[in-house]
Amino acid sequence: MTEGDESQPNDDSAERPSEAVEPSVPTAAYGEYTCKRCQTTVERGWRDEEEKGYVCSSCESW
Ligand SMILES: [Zn+2]
Repeated sequence: MTEGDESQPNDDSAERPSEAVEPSVPTAAYGEYTCKRCQTTVERGWRDEEEKGYVCSSCESW
């Protein structure tokens, strides 16, 4: 039952992916967001460049 033994004590952060990389897929963000289109409060928002904010999964154009 050895599992999830990947916690490393403060390894240096040089390996972190650059934030300059623009993913082609929508970026999900966890937290409470109000959808820019339908005004629904959701627990996961999707970054929408057109709306300049977060939309719910229903409004996100895939
Ligand atoms: Zn919505």
